[in-house]
Amino acid sequence: MEHGSSFVTRPAEVLVAGAGPAGLALALQAHDHGAAVRVIERRQEVFRPSRALILHSRTLEVLRPLGVTQELLARADIAPTADLHLGRRVVRVQLADLALPDTAFPHLSLIRQMDVETVLAQALADRGDRGGTPHRAGRSAR
Ligand SMILES: Cc1cc2nc3c(=O)[nH]c(=O)nc-3n(C[C@H](O)[C@H](O)[C@H](O)COP(=O)(O)OP(=O)(O)OC[C@H]3O[C@@H](n4cnc5c(N)ncnc54)[C@H](O)[C@@H]3O)c2cc1C
Repeated sequence: MEHGSSFVTRPAEVLVAGAGPAGLALALQAHDHGAAVRVIERRQEVFRPSRALILHSRTLEVLRPLGVTQELLARADIAPTADLHLGRRVVRVQLADLALPDTAFPHLSLIRQMDVETVLAQALADRGDRGGTPHRAGRSAR
């Protein structure tokens, strides 16, 4: 593809198909291990309705070495509550206090999947390898 060849700054050693959370995290890890990465995504539009809405403690621990947790937490609600309507009574419950002693992230983190993808894609872009920026089907990368 014409725009594809001008988009990659160096030959890709790792091709990641899919710019969802898994693909983007994989691309970051491969990049941080020294690989030249290219991410392709068949969706043309960045926005899509969120499926995932919660980041769990372990996910944040896994993502932490990639340097993205601060930005993820900045976009997340780490003390979500819900109002339970019990007849005429409304009871507010805390959803996220997990009281886990052995993690830096002892809470649920409510965040849209789209925001997770935005943070991970930005982290790739910040690493200065434009080949890692998701290359969307039918779109010029410029
Ligand atoms: C109702 C629901 C609720 C959920 N809630 C949570 C939650 O609260 N917390 C949580 O952690 N997880 C949750 N999940 C699971 C979460 O959505 C998935 O684990 C997550 O989306 C997986 O990410 P992924 O990158 O593997 O896949 P996806 O998010 O599906 O991303 C895959 C990407 O690859 C692209 N793609 C596929 N094939 C190709 C190809 N051949 N070429 C180019 N691009 C391609 C797709 O367009 C897509 O953008 C939920 C799932 C559902 C259905």
